[in-house]
Amino acid sequence: MGLMDSKKLLITGVLTDASLAFEVAKLAQMEGAEVVLTGAGRALRLTERTARKLPETCDVLALDVTQPNEIEAVFLDLQERWGRLDGVLHAIGFAPEACLGGNFLNADWEDVSVALHVSAYSLKALAGGLQPLLAEANGSVVGLTFDASVAWPVYDWMGVAKAAFESTARYLAKSLGPQGIRVNLVSAGPIRTMAAKSIPGFGDFEDAWQQRAPLGWDVHDQNSVARTTLAMMSDWFPMTTGEIIHVDGGYHAMGA
Ligand code: NAP
Repeated sequence: MGLMDSKKLLITGVLTDASLAFEVAKLAQMEGAEVVLTGAGRALRLTERTARKLPETCDVLALDVTQPNEIEAVFLDLQERWGRLDGVLHAIGFAPEACLGGNFLNADWEDVSVALHVSAYSLKALAGGLQPLLAEANGSVVGLTFDASVAWPVYDWMGVAKAAFESTARYLAKSLGPQGIRVNLVSAGPIRTMAAKSIPGFGDFEDAWQQRAPLGWDVHDQNSVARTTLAMMSDWFPMTTGEIIHVDGGYHAMGA
């Protein structure tokens, strides 16, 4: 018997097989879940290609999380398909180039607002849009963050967006808890994905983790993040919500 037997999961954020969400989808299927993926805009085709590398075939729905009509279409599809939703993974992040790389004082609101919309508000948009299906199953919403309690080099407005994302998760936990829906985040250490490679200076994070994480850290290992993410979607965290679990080799707990 698998950890996720009979679970119905929606997994966003699969772009390549290096995506954190790809490993979550793979493990979920191996543990018995039925999975539907989403892909955004022009990258939908890439998501469809990547989906073929999963152990089992699965459908890919179009979902740009800034488009309310696409969220509604996903809701209607899942309502027809399953009538309930046990878990949704939010693995979505984007900031325009001007928001990253040490340019903090120069980014303008037009760019910053895109980062906040795609990377923070989208958690409310997604969880809110799927709320009736999640309520049907005492469902679990899980998102992926990068510790926003401190300021990092180069992360800039993406760090601000992650702080808003973390706060959004807490308010969602408060708003959706009465319907039995849990909302939690996994705070991951640096993993070399497409999103990570687009952050200039990302290598500095990798070096810092090598030096400071007491358990050590492998930037190519999505598996640890995926296992914890799935555990949060399983029945084994029934009374946990509004939580941020670190999967970072212990980095966050060290002073120097
Ligand atoms: P990734 O493989 O590049 O995935 C990012 C995903 O976000 C892509 O599938 C991307 O799709 C999607 N996305 C961007 N804009 C979107 C939109 N408007 N609507 C729907 N989807 C959209 O990178 P990843 O590192 O696995 O990122 C997944 C999550 O983990 C992100 O929230 C990231 O901040 C978080 N995280 C990553 C790390 C790390 O070190 N890699 C650490 C901590 C947290 P398109 O490319 O098609 O737009």
